[in-house]
Amino acid sequence: MSKRLQAVRGMNDILPSTVQDWQYIENLLRQLTVAYGYHEIRTPHLEQTELFCRSIGDVTDIVEKEMYTFDDRNGDSITLRPEGTASCVRAGIEHGLFYHQTQKWWYMGPMFRHERPQKGRYRQFYQFGLEAFGFSGPDIDAEIIAFSARLWKELGLLDSLELQLNSLGTPAIRQQYREQLIAYFQQHHDQLDEDSQRRLLSNPMRILDSKNPALATLIANAPKLSEHLDDESQQHFQGLCTLLDKLGIAYVINPCLVRGLDYYTKTVFEWVTTELGTQGTVCAGGRYDGLVEQLGGQATPAFGFAVGIERLVSMLQARDSEHRASRQPMVLSVMAAEDVDFSRALILAETLRSRCPALRIELHCGGGRLKNQFKRANQQGARWAIVVGDEQATAAEPFMFKWLQEETLPIALNESQLLLHLQSLLEQ
Ligand code: ATP
Ligand code: MG
Repeated sequence: MSKRLQAVRGMNDILPSTVQDWQYIENLLRQLTVAYGYHEIRTPHLEQTELFCRSIGDVTDIVEKEMYTFDDRNGDSITLRPEGTASCVRAGIEHGLFYHQTQKWWYMGPMFRHERPQKGRYRQFYQFGLEAFGFSGPDIDAEIIAFSARLWKELGLLDSLELQLNSLGTPAIRQQYREQLIAYFQQHHDQLDEDSQRRLLSNPMRILDSKNPALATLIANAPKLSEHLDDESQQHFQGLCTLLDKLGIAYVINPCLVRGLDYYTKTVFEWVTTELGTQGTVCAGGRYDGLVEQLGGQATPAFGFAVGIERLVSMLQARDSEHRASRQPMVLSVMAAEDVDFSRALILAETLRSRCPALRIELHCGGGRLKNQFKRANQQGARWAIVVGDEQATAAEPFMFKWLQEETLPIALNESQLLLHLQSLLEQ
């Protein structure tokens, strides 16, 4: 027997039974982007490998060990995108969209990282992100953070998430800080794990981002970048904190928050929960003022964030099912009695779809006994069923309208009575 085919490890099918939670989040995100005046950008899933090496940084987890990179048939090195920001910057430069203009963009789609699969960590996962270009002040930082806070509020998750903020200062300040950090960790070299020892000289700030609990105390006692910030970065950070205070958005300043990508400057932030175990960061972002220039464009300040949709879906799924059920569309089942011409049910279903677009019409195809059709309708969560040509029906009133979950007597109706009846039920 031939081997059974399976999905690639760490890449998930999103089955019809859970897709509605995804659609709910996606629809909400789309609505919010309209309310905030952000415009969608869609970029290819494949980019030249160099784009990610030059933007994310050579000594980061992503570029060192997580990218899906291969040579295409021409021998060009191609990579499946591990994140969305680099592609947005590339597209903006390529199409000249950063000259004397500001841009507010959003994207949503799959990202690919060859990580060890575990709950909340997959090899193909989905991100939604916002990116704003051309704004240097803390106003845009505050707007984008307000967007994320509103998203949690709408999803009923605000109480479960904590906003953590930090400032990474300018590259010049970071350079000085780097020396101090190396000196500190060198003093405690024997306490570092293998990854951190390797990073010590190449990217010591990444040690602060380590998830290894054995390093927690060492990291907590490390010198803090926030104590060495330049005036401009400090003012920017203060400005952001004031705006968040005015918006009533609570935050915690976490001096160890550094983010796993090299391109950040000044503000960085994460929304963190304790509900998802070690995969507790749901959303992360910050300012990346140097990236456009670094990739060959004109110097352009920028700010953005990305949220992992899988982690949101699992938080939502842990919530009460009542909340989720209230988001379901109303379901109406249409079936034909055993000896009735199926085309009558088909035509009725089409009419109902034109006249009552808010309803989900489940037309029973495949025939069979009415008893089984009702069983199926119940499984589909139908509230009502219409049977064409039921034995109680007459030529003048050929449709039997039945309640599936309530003790209400069925009624026989003709088509126009049926439409009126449904409309009045839907208005209630
Ligand atoms: P982590 O520290 O958890 O590895 P990261 O710093 O690599 O996260 P970002 O690149 O900032 O993550 O991505 C933003 C968000 O995308 C994360 O907060 C998370 O919700 C989600 N995310 C990142 N990697 C994965 C993954 N492999 N599987 C599922 N979601 C992910
Ligand atoms: Mg990661």
